[in-house]
Amino acid sequence: MSESEPAAGLSDTSALTRRILIGLAAGMIFGAGLNLSGIDSPATRFIIDGVFHVIGQIFLASLKLLVVPLVLVSLACGTAALDDVTRLGRIGGKTLGLYLLTTAIAISLAIVAAVILAPGVGFELSSESTGYVAKEAPGLAQTLIEIFPENPFQALAEGRMLQVIVFAILLGIAITLSGEAGRDLLRLFESANAVIMKLVFLLMEIAPYGIFCLIARVFSEQGVDAFERLAKYFLVVLGVLFVHVSVTYPTMLVLFGGLNPVGFFRKLRAPMSVAFSTASSGATLPVTLRATEKRLGVDGSIASFTIPLGATINMDGTAIMQGVATVFIAQAYEVPIAPAGYLTIVLTATLASIGTAGVPGVGTVMLAMVLKQMNLPVEGIALILGVDRLLDMTRTAVNITGDAAVSCIVARSEGKLDLEAYRAP
Ligand code: ASP
Repeated sequence: MSESEPAAGLSDTSALTRRILIGLAAGMIFGAGLNLSGIDSPATRFIIDGVFHVIGQIFLASLKLLVVPLVLVSLACGTAALDDVTRLGRIGGKTLGLYLLTTAIAISLAIVAAVILAPGVGFELSSESTGYVAKEAPGLAQTLIEIFPENPFQALAEGRMLQVIVFAILLGIAITLSGEAGRDLLRLFESANAVIMKLVFLLMEIAPYGIFCLIARVFSEQGVDAFERLAKYFLVVLGVLFVHVSVTYPTMLVLFGGLNPVGFFRKLRAPMSVAFSTASSGATLPVTLRATEKRLGVDGSIASFTIPLGATINMDGTAIMQGVATVFIAQAYEVPIAPAGYLTIVLTATLASIGTAGVPGVGTVMLAMVLKQMNLPVEGIALILGVDRLLDMTRTAVNITGDAAVSCIVARSEGKLDLEAYRAP
């Protein structure tokens, strides 16, 4: 059964996307309306903290539930489908190269905008302390070592994505090398892959309600006071996120892939909405993978490699926030940055965004790594937390868009992009 022929009682893809967008818009209006009206009765608490919270968390849990099994089986199948290891190396090289390139462009845009628009000037915090205690960000050496799992079952149980990715790739390679002896395991994985993708399909039926509840809750609780003081910072981050999505990705799609970017964004509306409402690239992964394969036409062997990897290490939106925030904090505390310092920001923010897990708010935890490297006061993070939730939601949507763009470009270069599907309305 194809995507355009849904099972009885299930919506087709465009109707579903419409319902998701309606859920998103309705959630924003409802939540913001409640917030502005200032009504805070036991009944509204029951709706917001009871009903919306429960439905939202159930939706989130059911998305997360699929991530580990999906990455394991789809990546093992994808790797096994690549007939030789050199091809895997080539695809891996291109993917990593493009992920690093887009992230470096993202941070550079962020730094240029923050230096020109100076959102932190005038805070004069040089002698003030906010009392914020930063959480410990993991060191680089440890991060590298921990990519390799000692115990795959522990990696699966704890949802350590990079470890699961390494294990799945090794398994895929070994399945291919085993020839006939590995056939049964491959068939089992292929069957599991198909079933899990069907589960994603089923789950998407409740996505509009889950998204409505998550968004309504966030908007009903978001205080507006923080925005007044931080309006400039907020708008600079938002502006750079917008420029990156509307200029960098389309340019890359055209230049490197010869692809029309208009259809690309239309087809990513569902995963972008899920990313926005969950603020988690990890939880959105099943939806991103499904849209990249089914709607953008990226072959499973490429998508199942690039998308899980991207959801774990490629975070352009996060890097943009980290770039702007670092310059903002330096300006707020009146610490000058030397020209070479900007290069350090590009390098450390690239690493920090790679190290950021695809869950809500971790980007600000990893920001501590950049600030420490720059000898800037880590407690400056407290300044931006008031407006971070909305920025987190927006940057997560950017993060997954970057993964899908790179996936399309890599697939095109390997002759693994179904152009008919990509161009289909
Ligand atoms: N929430 C982001 C993501 O999941 C990570 C972050 O920037 O905090 O992609």
